[in-house]
Amino acid sequence: MPGYHSPQLEAEVRLNTNESPEPPPQAFLEELSAAARSLAANRYPDRDAAELRAALASHHGVETDQVFCANGSNEVLQSLFLAYGGAGRSALVFEPTYALHSHIARITGTDLVTGERTDSFEVDPAGAARLLGEISATRGRGQPNLTMLCSPNNPTGNVESPEVVEALSEMVPGLLVVDEAYGQFAPHSALGLVGPSGGVVAVVRTFSKTWAMAALRLGYLVADPEVVAACRAVALPYHLDALKQQAGVLALSHQGEMEARVARLVEERGRLVHALDEDGVRVWPSAANFVLFRVPGLSAGEMWRRLAGRSVLVRDVSGWPRLENCLRVTVGTREENGRFLEALREAMRE
Ligand code: PMP
Repeated sequence: MPGYHSPQLEAEVRLNTNESPEPPPQAFLEELSAAARSLAANRYPDRDAAELRAALASHHGVETDQVFCANGSNEVLQSLFLAYGGAGRSALVFEPTYALHSHIARITGTDLVTGERTDSFEVDPAGAARLLGEISATRGRGQPNLTMLCSPNNPTGNVESPEVVEALSEMVPGLLVVDEAYGQFAPHSALGLVGPSGGVVAVVRTFSKTWAMAALRLGYLVADPEVVAACRAVALPYHLDALKQQAGVLALSHQGEMEARVARLVEERGRLVHALDEDGVRVWPSAANFVLFRVPGLSAGEMWRRLAGRSVLVRDVSGWPRLENCLRVTVGTREENGRFLEALREAMRE
């Protein structure tokens, strides 16, 4: 069984893994260095990550026992599958979507049920209801314990409307996990559905994209205390190192810079989409920090090679269900986006 690893190649313009093109603020890096210097490295870290969870809880206006933290949101997702998936259990995903959801399902022995998205890659609640009805009618097949909804969706970029998320939360039999790795780039979030009344919704977020901290590996879950307790029960002891816990707390005091960075990227995204459209490239609307596109008359593999030959890396997503000849480009700095567009124009003429 192959692992889930996107290739890490050397290139001058790297727009293939949806990272922030800008580093976090200098002041944050200095505060982190000071924290590293005064770290009690010989002692195990706080197993409850209490300070970090309290800081995140206050950031989102929830209680500390509604927050679970892990090494990147991928580990949060894995914890959810360890807690709620496994032998005899199932998870529902809507393809095409973030491939790690189904990958973790396979790793944890969770049965996978696949729903389809519409032509514009949205989830259709009526279709989902039909699918759930069919599952009930199939003897020997349980209702999904986990329903995974990536919004904004990777790699298509679209965000689900609040009505769709709410409709799904009311219809799914188990937990509705909304993966909001790109949440701050979008106009709305499912966070409002987490709470005493909406106990089945769990929202997953990350510091990797909007907080520009991909190297530090920190992600978290906002959910009902019972879901948080289940994730904590399956987590390894001391899984969250002390420096990372500090990094998360310190980052949250730079919220203004994060929001300004996100606003710059959203503006750049608009410019990028407009330029691609002008060049006759098929481009899908995006509420994330990446854009799905297809160049008419050229295979995705060939376009990827021509761009890589010009030291520009994008992600070839043409192997994903229903994304024939599609590529995904991360929104970079103004300069990087300019280099990408220039390389793309040259590659189209080649
Ligand atoms: N969810 C989605 C939808 C993603 O695209 C990614 C990053 N590729 C992640 C989760 C994981 O991010 P991280 O583990 O860095 O938090």
